Amino acid sequence: MSQDNAAASTRTTLPAYPLLSAAQLLDQPPLTAVELDRIAELCAVVFETTNDVILFQAEAILALEAVARSVASAGTVAVNIVTGPYGGGFGEWMREAGADVTDIVSDFDDVADPQAVASTIREIKPSVVALVHAEAATGGTNDVSTIFAAAKEVGAVTILDSVAAIGAEPVHAAEWGADIVVLGGQKALAGPAGVSAVAVSDHAWALIDANENAPRSSSLSLIDWRDHWLRTDRSIIPGLPSWLEGRALLAALERVVAEGVGAVNRRHVAAAAATRAGVRALGLELWQKGAGVAPIATTIRVPQGDAAAALLTLDTGLVTQGNGSLRGQLLRVNHYGRAASLPSVIEAVQTLADALGVDALAAVAAARAAWL
Ligand SMILES: *Cc1c(COP(=O)(O)O)cnc(C)c1O
Repeated sequence: MSQDNAAASTRTTLPAYPLLSAAQLLDQPPLTAVELDRIAELCAVVFETTNDVILFQAEAILALEAVARSVASAGTVAVNIVTGPYGGGFGEWMREAGADVTDIVSDFDDVADPQAVASTIREIKPSVVALVHAEAATGGTNDVSTIFAAAKEVGAVTILDSVAAIGAEPVHAAEWGADIVVLGGQKALAGPAGVSAVAVSDHAWALIDANENAPRSSSLSLIDWRDHWLRTDRSIIPGLPSWLEGRALLAALERVVAEGVGAVNRRHVAAAAATRAGVRALGLELWQKGAGVAPIATTIRVPQGDAAAALLTLDTGLVTQGNGSLRGQLLRVNHYGRAASLPSVIEAVQTLADALGVDALAAVAAARAAWL
């Protein structure tokens, strides 16, 4: 085969998983008001909130940018807690919008020290506190309750990026006083990546409405969706919400709620515990130093020396390399969504054992025993 032919045949190779049929992908009616309302209702269930839910016709990272630009302007004083790459980006957007942002940065193999963060919040008295709940990239999870209690004491609007947490661990938006919470479909909810949702409290709306520079008549506008949909008689759907991704999010949420949010959370906790046991039994070291280990994904420190070489080539979807600056430093076991299961954990342990060139038997047994 010539090189040209080889390249052409690579390009036309279809993936092995079953593709959706044209009938499933095409000729679908637009989303109805009933479907939109049901998506929002189920988002409110998983958020544990009675606040407004804004559906966002783009992946969660755009919803986060919309939130940052909606709350931040010249005169906004923000405390931004950075325990991974997403928090860093959020602070940059608020800065670009003119806010005075204090980043509290942890090493990425640790989570925020809640008491230290709380005392900085009491000192600075910010109007906005932004926090990433769980970090899929680093396998850490933050103590939202303690940090937001301090934020509430000083009257700050609290912002929570729960994209990686939602489904994997409880998100008690109301109990924690989270004014803005962001959800994505594609992690523990096992849904689509192309749409997202934002819960917004009245306290947050007051801040956003007072911000002259908050996006309006813009794809990044939260206000538009509120004014052109939530606060209307719901007879005219604004724009053309994505029906494929919207219906997929609806199906994912229905499936999660049918299983029970608590049961889905427990599957993730069990998968994380079993993976940690298997990883330790293989003689590998966990990446997260402290107690803040997230149920969403387990992260493993890449060992020094010869053992690392094969580990650094792994990329199976379930076991992947660290992103960005974390590449070469850590491996991730993405046991979330449908992969929050014992068979997936065993597959991951087997993959790691094979890469290390060791027998998996004892590590698989350890993983099984630790499945809660
Ligand atoms: C995955 C993730 C996002 C971004 O989600 P996308 O839908 O990929 O844009 C944001 N925040 C956190 C904490 C995440 O884990």
